[in-house]
Amino acid sequence: MNECSQNNVFASKYLDNPIFGIVSDVAVSLGVRAFVIGGYVRDCFLGKKSKDIDIVVEGSGTAFAREVGRRVHSRVSVFENYGTAMLRYHHTEIEFVGARRESYNRDSRNPIVEDGTLEDDQLRRDFTINAMAFSLQKDDYGTLVDPFGGIKDLDKGIIRTPADPDKTFDDDPLRMLRAVRFATKLSTWEKYFNITPECFASIRRNASRLQILSKERIVEELNKILVTDHPSMGFDLMDKAGMLQYILPDLLKLKGVQMLEGRAHKENFTHTLQVVDNLAEMEVEAISQGLLHDYEPSENGFTESLRTEPNVWLRWAALLHDIGKPASKKFDPVTGWSFHGHEVIGGRMVPKIFTGLKMPLNEKMKYVQKLVSLHLRPQALVTEEVTDSAVRRLLFEAGNDIEDLMLLCKADITSKNEHKVEVLKSNFDLVMGKIRQVEEKDAIRNWKNPITGDYIMELYGLPPCRLLGELKDAIKEAIMDSECDNTFEAADTLLRRLAAERGLVPAEKR
Ligand code: ATP
Ligand code: MG
Repeated sequence: MNECSQNNVFASKYLDNPIFGIVSDVAVSLGVRAFVIGGYVRDCFLGKKSKDIDIVVEGSGTAFAREVGRRVHSRVSVFENYGTAMLRYHHTEIEFVGARRESYNRDSRNPIVEDGTLEDDQLRRDFTINAMAFSLQKDDYGTLVDPFGGIKDLDKGIIRTPADPDKTFDDDPLRMLRAVRFATKLSTWEKYFNITPECFASIRRNASRLQILSKERIVEELNKILVTDHPSMGFDLMDKAGMLQYILPDLLKLKGVQMLEGRAHKENFTHTLQVVDNLAEMEVEAISQGLLHDYEPSENGFTESLRTEPNVWLRWAALLHDIGKPASKKFDPVTGWSFHGHEVIGGRMVPKIFTGLKMPLNEKMKYVQKLVSLHLRPQALVTEEVTDSAVRRLLFEAGNDIEDLMLLCKADITSKNEHKVEVLKSNFDLVMGKIRQVEEKDAIRNWKNPITGDYIMELYGLPPCRLLGELKDAIKEAIMDSECDNTFEAADTLLRRLAAERGLVPAEKR
């Protein structure tokens, strides 16, 4: 990073993608100046590969994009409302925007936009580390243009706004969440990225402005924070900045320790954040070992693939796993504090929380709900003896999400009592072993009852009625309890016996 300490860095080594040469040629032929700006430049100096490239043009961004699109034979998507355009070049998204000056109306995060110079455009950017640009002009190709000292801030791990923070955050409150996201995402154990005290104080003052943001934009940032390596940092920052009450107020209810008759319960907010971090670490590790899979619904059931990226919904499940605790909290003078049934209450809260954040109530929500509802089950299994039938039931209920559920349960072990941790971990290994054994014998994960309602109706000439459900349930229970083999023949024999006990005679024998 030493070379970064100079103000003007010759950085053409970062511009090896042929698109930059093409943009440079187009700039000459259209008689405008063009620069690569923002995340791409920042990530070059961080030694990271950027997924997308932002080009700023002193002139019309959309006209410029059309000309580049013509030369590289790529379709250009134009967003007239925003004055931006995008095209894809060898799997990289290239975004074009005209350099602009922005002013804001207090009731909206949509700015009033005027044409501006590169410097105007850099001043409207969120953070100094995101406001750096490389020139693409022929005479100074690759020169770093960094009027606000972004390179020094990157070196020192500082997040601050180019303009007055109060104005920056008031104009567009999303920037407060972006500050938290970049601090969380860029921080490593070796080097922290800190929001400057001045910016942080400004975020605290402006936190209530988060209310004007659309939920969709908030969730986009939350998701990006959740998939970092240590999401707790982001939630901790949001908490300290007074932002959480406008984002996820239910999470705040987990805070605090109550003491009665000298007995205190666990601090559930810190515990939750610890679980999210544990899970992030374990998931990254498991992904690198090729131990996790993703399952997508398909025509004949589902398709399985090796997981390569963190599953944001698993992170949501960790974040919400104890969300039902405040509502289930009880104190008993003999047994102390309890949170009985918090997983059931938590499971019921998931759709409400998703609705509040305008997140879709689809299979992802059901997955989060399932994990929250089941998160105590694996540990509960070992309180007595791990029976086959209990494991079969768990496998049946968790289905393909069993790997993720087990990861969540392991991440949930945060006790400071080393002996307790040892016991819990060995219990956990016991359940894992048993799951493997049961799975080897039988495919319970995606279990389907070998006896269908149609089959029973046809066999006994019955109309749709409650009895069908009762018979199917009895067969399911018997298979789960290993009292009946998981085959059609065994299930059919059992069905005929149960039906006979209820006085039913097969239609063909009447
Ligand atoms: P990444 O793509 O890795 O998340 P990025 O910095 O590229 O990071 P984008 O959201 O792609 O972030 O935005 C591109 C650039 O646009 C940023 O680097 C920043 O300069 C600017 N920018 C984005 N959102 C805002 C905003 N709300 N206010 C001011 N500038 C912004
Ligand atoms: Mg980007």
